[in-house]
Order: sequence, then structure tokens, then C-alpha cells
Amino acid sequence: MLGSVANRRLLTPRTLRDALRMLDAEGPLVPMAGCTDLYVSLNFGTLKGTNFLNLWELDELRTIAVTGGVLSVGALCTYTSIIKSRTTQARVPMLVAAAREVGGPQIQNRGTIGGNIANASPAGDTLPVLAAAGATILVTSVRGERRVPFVEFYTGYRRSVLQHDELITAVEFPAIRGRQWFRKVGTRAAQAISKVVMAAVDTGHDSAPRIAIGSVAPTVVRLPRTEAALGSGASVADAQGILLDEIVPIDDVRSTAEYRRRVAANLLASFWNERGRR
Ligand SMILES: Cc1cc2nc3c(=O)[nH]c(=O)nc-3n(C[C@H](O)[C@H](O)[C@H](O)COP(=O)(O)OP(=O)(O)OC[C@H]3O[C@@H](n4cnc5c(N)ncnc54)[C@H](O)[C@@H]3O)c2cc1C
Repeated sequence: MLGSVANRRLLTPRTLRDALRMLDAEGPLVPMAGCTDLYVSLNFGTLKGTNFLNLWELDELRTIAVTGGVLSVGALCTYTSIIKSRTTQARVPMLVAAAREVGGPQIQNRGTIGGNIANASPAGDTLPVLAAAGATILVTSVRGERRVPFVEFYTGYRRSVLQHDELITAVEFPAIRGRQWFRKVGTRAAQAISKVVMAAVDTGHDSAPRIAIGSVAPTVVRLPRTEAALGSGASVADAQGILLDEIVPIDDVRSTAEYRRRVAANLLASFWNERGRR
């Protein structure tokens, strides 16, 4: 291991209020949830920061609840808790499908949805789900709460609107009407980072679907022109052509741009063609 835990400081608040106070008064602090991404950085010797804020004791960020028709999933909810929750199963099955494909059971037991969002990887598996669902990120600091539409959360590759004194505290999902769909393509069925990951909602025959895709651009993206084309009756082949204009995949250690383009187009066809079978 290249990194070391020596000379690093860890603060462990027991309440969200204390956590926010520490972030404000004792920062800069790096929030630490399940540590599944942070530990990889430590291992590679790229972990930035020496002072950490351990969120793991904050049970108030583990709630899954529906209020006024809106589903709130606390930032510290692990993939395992999302998979097991009857509420997420009933309301956001595409999130459950994504959670089942993250890492393996060890990662699912520790990794959190808040960590996936804050880590800001374009390959994060829950992120296309949040984009297709029209989710909102609840962000909290000593200054108060603010709600950021998920599609406005990222400002560029691994950059977001989150400030140093803010925590992600929950993700909110409106009621989703229509068929939900999720597909991940990686090297293996488990323990593989996505080469391409897509989530979509088919909202019915007279309206455009909502489609989001990861690993093909600096951030997870919605595909507004592809959505509009399908919604107005374009053929799948025409929509695939538009999709290829809307994505900018790159060659990297996990895949080639060309393979990603082909897979993205195939996933779009799978999603849309399954429509007729229902
Ligand atoms: C073996 C392995 C397999 C993996 N497989 C996948 C996979 O298939 N799909 C996938 O998407 N990811 C995968 N990951 C990445 C990782 O597991 C996920 O991104 C996970 O959701 C991170 O959550 P965490 O709680 O562990 O975050 P942490 O590692 O604790 O934190 C990650 C980042 O988020 C910040 N952060 C965490 N919580 C908050 C918060 N509430 N507010 C503000 N900032 C916060 C931290 O400061 C840090 O920058 C894998 C990782 C490993 C090691």
C-alpha cells in the first residue's frame, strides 16, 4: 500500500448537527462514509487531506421514508439496505437493480449512495438512475439546507456544486410513473466498474422517455435529443444515430471509445425494443 494512515486525524461526530459544526469550525475535513472509494485512494497514495470526518455513526442519515409522495433515501444508506428495502423495491426498482450490480456483497455492505454521488465518477452506477428518476440531492451545512436537482449537481469531470462545509444528507425521488429500466455493462457480472451504464424510464406511449447514461462523457448525462426523437416516434435506428451525437466516450483502461459507442447504441435499442413486449 502506497498511502499511510499515520499522521491523519479522524473526528467522529454522533449527530448530524455536530458533524456540520465540525465541518464548519475544524475544516477542511474530508467526509468519510463507507470508505470504499477513499480506501482505494489511500492504497494508491492519492488520498488528499489529512483530517477526516467519520459519518458512520450518523444513523439519522440512514432513513428510507416516503413523505408527501416523495421518497427520501438517506445519504448513508448502503447498497444492501437499498436492496432490502420494500420501499425502494416498490418505488425505484431501477435503483435496486443498480445497487445489486455495485461491486460484490462486501462493497454493498459498506458503500453508500451518498459516497457514490460525492465521489462524482462518471461510471458511478446509481448516477444514471438518479438522472432518469428526476431526483434531487439534499445538501446540508450550518448555513441550512438546499435542494439541488441531480442534473445540476455536477459541473464537470469529478466536480460538483458541493461546498467544503456541506454534506449530502439525502436523495429525494418524486413518484415515478412508467416502466423503469437499468443495465450495466462491465468486464464481469460482479466487482467490475461500468464500461457503459444506462437507466431509463418509459413514461408511456404519448410522451418522451427519460434516458441517462454513464461512462460516456465527463459526467453522467441525460440524452434530451434522443429522448425527444423517441417520444415523437422516430425509429430506434434514427434515435441511435442521435445518441451517438450526444455522447463523447473516451479510450481508457476499461474500454475503448468505439466499444462504448456501440454498447450505448445497443443498450438504447434493448430499452426501447423491450417496450413492445409488455
Ligand atoms: C472493489 C470495489 C468495487 C466497486 N464497485 C463499484 C461498482 O460496481 N459501481 C460503483 O458505482 N462503484 C463501485 N465502487 C466504488 C464505491 O464502492 C462506491 O462509489 C461507493 O458508493 C462509495 O461510497 P462510500 O460510502 O464507500 O464512500 P467513501 O469512500 O466514504 O467516500 C467517497 C467520496 O465521497 C465523499 N462523501 C462520502 N459521503 C459523503 C456525504 N454524505 N457528503 C459529502 N461527501 C461525502 C468522501 O469525502 C469521498 O470523497 C467500488 C469500489 C471498490 C473498492
